[in-house]
Amino acid sequence: MKTAKTAEYRNPGPGAVEFARQYVEGVTRAEALPIIKKLLNGELHDTTDKRIKKCAYCGYYYRDKTKPNNSKTCSRECKIDFDTLNRAKKRADEALLNPKKKKETTYVWWLEYPFWISEYEMLKRSWKYEVPYAPNKLAAIRAVQQRDAMLGGRRKPKCEVNYNGDEKVQPKVSVNFGKASANKPCEVTISQMTPEEIEAYFTEKYSQEHLKMERWRAENLAAVKKY
Ligand SMILES: [Zn+2]
Repeated sequence: MKTAKTAEYRNPGPGAVEFARQYVEGVTRAEALPIIKKLLNGELHDTTDKRIKKCAYCGYYYRDKTKPNNSKTCSRECKIDFDTLNRAKKRADEALLNPKKKKETTYVWWLEYPFWISEYEMLKRSWKYEVPYAPNKLAAIRAVQQRDAMLGGRRKPKCEVNYNGDEKVQPKVSVNFGKASANKPCEVTISQMTPEEIEAYFTEKYSQEHLKMERWRAENLAAVKKY
């Protein structure tokens, strides 16, 4: 049987406390400290005494009081905790070695550091918490992608813009799509503006000063700004 790691700090069980008490009976607290230290190092007790052992659970020395001298823990309390710990370890080992034997055991949750039996089992469940898009939303996204592909992508169409005002302004055509829907065709509206209408629109909307600045901006910064 495996012995519990003593690197884990546990409180001494009643059996261990009783064993230590006989060494510090009647001494002050200050005097007791070095005695306890020696005791814990195993320097104080009779090493030939086969009844003095280290508790398999709490890890402290105790005196075995069982008749056949076969106890592994200092007390009933430590035995219960030790058995519980071993059962948990055994279950974890079994689950790890036979992942298919028990289908419901895929996550060893009862240990201090829980783990999944296999990565596959983990992924099989964890994806459910990362909820994907609803089917109709996916269809809508796909519809937009297909529409963009047919129109040559979402890239802004390249066009000559005449900001100088003296060259002939090209007519502007804009195509607007209605709200995208997966199962109904979109409503498409096409509007057209003649060069005269565009001129009139800008003159009405912006001041001459502003248009002059925009023209300058277009000439000087057009090379920098690339779409
Ligand atoms: Zn103990």
